Amino acid sequence: MAKQDLMDRVVNLCKRRGFIFPSSEIYGGFRSTWDYGPLGVLLKRNVKDQWWRSMVQLRDDIVGLDAAILMAPKVWEASGHLATFTDPLVDCRNCKERFRADHLPESGACPNCGAKDSFTEARQFHLMFKTFVGPVEDDASVAYLRPETAQGIFVNYANVQTTSRRKLPFGVAQIGKSFRNEITPGNFIFRTREFEQMEMEFFVPPEDSPRWYEYWCQERLRWFTDLGVPESKLRLRPHDTEELSHYSQGTSDVEFEYPWGWGELEGIANRGDFDLAQHAKFSGEELVYFDQESDRRYVPHVIEPALGADRALLAFLLAAYDEDEAPDEKGKLEKRTVLRFDPRLAPIKAAVLPLSKQEKLVPVAREVAGLLRPHFQIDVDAAGSIGRRYRRQDEIGTPACVTVDFETLDDRAVTVRDRDSMKQDRVSIDALVAYLQERMAA
Ligand code: ATP
Repeated sequence: MAKQDLMDRVVNLCKRRGFIFPSSEIYGGFRSTWDYGPLGVLLKRNVKDQWWRSMVQLRDDIVGLDAAILMAPKVWEASGHLATFTDPLVDCRNCKERFRADHLPESGACPNCGAKDSFTEARQFHLMFKTFVGPVEDDASVAYLRPETAQGIFVNYANVQTTSRRKLPFGVAQIGKSFRNEITPGNFIFRTREFEQMEMEFFVPPEDSPRWYEYWCQERLRWFTDLGVPESKLRLRPHDTEELSHYSQGTSDVEFEYPWGWGELEGIANRGDFDLAQHAKFSGEELVYFDQESDRRYVPHVIEPALGADRALLAFLLAAYDEDEAPDEKGKLEKRTVLRFDPRLAPIKAAVLPLSKQEKLVPVAREVAGLLRPHFQIDVDAAGSIGRRYRRQDEIGTPACVTVDFETLDDRAVTVRDRDSMKQDRVSIDALVAYLQERMAA
């Protein structure tokens, strides 16, 4: 399949099946903003839950936090965002489109109109959204929407460390919205002005930071492959020296092969002691750690894996999209679209399908649905031929279809069809929850 086709098909599927809609669509949409529909919200929740599970639940060295979006403006002074959180902006003199100077093609031609050497000098454009807190719109009431979640963690370092009585190394994980007034949002949900981030700050003794940086690079790659992204579509790209942020002692991007080429999926940075040292300086609070074992007092260093929830969701969608053939009712092969999600990410885990709408089957289907609902997000679909209903579930990535047929009335068993192999198993209703649980754990 041509690469642009893949993107078009995924965007189209998202709209058609209720994963993602253009925001404010009845008013003609609103500049690269998107709304998650009934299936999209389930998928996004699963992405975030898997991140939280691997970062917080399964570890004994990371705790969670949920800090406010609006923070004291001093935070952004200390973090360097007020002075330096800018992108270089150029205008095309010919078509008046605006671009990020660091994202222009090497040919020097305008990506919109093709004009050569038509760009203005680059000027710095500030990416933070500004607003006012309270009724008066003056300089004293200016506040910013956070452009990253990380600063909420740094300013709470002492609160978290003392209340959770953590020894180094330990991490703090957070999921939440961030806002950037991007010059060129686009590529669907890849780059938007409002997005969700999943960030973790891992505090370590200074001498251990190179080792932990390596560890988190590998660990974050592993997370994606464990959830079904093929290794061939992922790579780790260390930044070269001139690309490094002013505070960074080392940064690598986990890159994904998007339909338009390789691009950033997640960033892993060794931030040194920059953030805590800056906040100590600007707040006057001492942000140090007392290491009892070595009887030393020092500012911890920080390793940060930072991932966009929406961008991760896009990568999972693109990696899962597939087209193959499946037999129709009469055994003839027909084209099918299938999202091969890892079952842990699939929005719907199982669909209950009464073979026909005949009255006798409906109560049993209802009983089976009631049995499954406390354990899994399920769907019940009684409309159309069974083949059509399988196709509908394949297209949204449902791993299992549970068919209630006339034999069920006699043998209290159902047919479970697997999305990928299309194999069917006869399973007794009593054993169904356990059967599906095993299948969903992956
Ligand atoms: P870029 O240079 O592409 O603008 P960045 O390097 O500034 O991105 P980070 O600050 O490292 O991005 O953000 C960490 C992660 O947050 C990114 O890897 C990405 O997954 C996500 N992210 C950042 N900006 C956006 C955005 N505008 N829309 C969606 N996700 C984003």
